[in-house]
Amino acid sequence: MKILGMNLILIALCSSLNSLAAQPQIKVRIGKALQRITLNGSDIKQIIQGNITSKVYPGRKRIRFNCAPIVKKTNPKKPLMLTSLNSKAGLIKWNKTGYVGRLNIVTSANRKGCDLINQMPLETYISSLLSKEMSPVWPIEALKAQAVAARSYAYHKMITKQVSKDHGHNVFYDLENSEKHQVNGSFFDTTASTTLAARETKGEVLLVGTKELTPIFFHSKCGGKTLRPDQVWSNYVKGYRSVDCPFCHKHGTKSWKHKMSKLKFRKLVNKTLTNYHDESLRSKNSKLLRITPDNKGKAFLRLYDDDRPLSVQKSRIRSFLGRKRAASNYFHIEQKGNKVILKGNGFGHGVGLCQYGAYELAKRGYTYKQILSHYFPEHNIKKIY
Ligand SMILES: [Zn+2]
Repeated sequence: MKILGMNLILIALCSSLNSLAAQPQIKVRIGKALQRITLNGSDIKQIIQGNITSKVYPGRKRIRFNCAPIVKKTNPKKPLMLTSLNSKAGLIKWNKTGYVGRLNIVTSANRKGCDLINQMPLETYISSLLSKEMSPVWPIEALKAQAVAARSYAYHKMITKQVSKDHGHNVFYDLENSEKHQVNGSFFDTTASTTLAARETKGEVLLVGTKELTPIFFHSKCGGKTLRPDQVWSNYVKGYRSVDCPFCHKHGTKSWKHKMSKLKFRKLVNKTLTNYHDESLRSKNSKLLRITPDNKGKAFLRLYDDDRPLSVQKSRIRSFLGRKRAASNYFHIEQKGNKVILKGNGFGHGVGLCQYGAYELAKRGYTYKQILSHYFPEHNIKKIY
């Protein structure tokens, strides 16, 4: 999940907070830069180009789009809505998966093809997401905690139009169905318990105080302690604290270790300094790179390049190593002879809700409100619709 802009939104949207608003519709990009799109469904209604004309296809219908000739004529910075389809029967299939709501086809950036966007009520999105971000067989209170966190994450993206801001022009979707944002399923991933978890927390989001909507993050397993956003991505986000989590260690991925030569580690430190800190600090030829004693709770690694002190953000080192070699940001670095060893716990970025921690707490009888107040002690739950 990528972090995108950290501007706090003072929801002076008093109307949506003081009186309950209608459930919003979320637009999720499910396919990008597609050359051809084939959709199947029954009793499909198709609206063409901004509601100018519409067609109804009674009975079963397969609709094929060839995007390539259309996108060549479009402005790469101004995506165009080509068509929007929904089915009276409920589902439209794409790539053997059934989707509820509307499927919108728009031109994608840089004339690469078409994007396919699923537009649906936010609660439908949340119940399909729980099967992917957690497991439908997990205790209901853990699923409810995840529902509130995921809804807050999505709602923040919708209200701030963050994805459009990042593109520098308006896009037709609020977020992507990918690890970059959060992974949702389809109609087929919705179960009785994921629907219940969404329904029992309907419209609830996390706010700092009573009015401030900030990005809400979650991850698989913190390994012992959660991290603040600024410890991982450098951006300060109001309302976050690093909290102890003695709950997740028994579950999921065990501890991890990654060993490398000192030479390779020096290159890695230089790459991190060049990209994220100050290039002038790069270690020249020194073979005397010394690591000061480090522990997992420290966000920065302190080093000496000869007698020059250096400080490197550990999460940045991980971003170069990749998730396979360094599974989490909760690690410490040791030096043994000619080798440097990273030893860590957990899986994921470590910010916000720890999913395996929530699982353990729910098994011990904690409610979703208690779980959320442990990981987000400065946030409050507010029902906005
Ligand atoms: Zn944890």
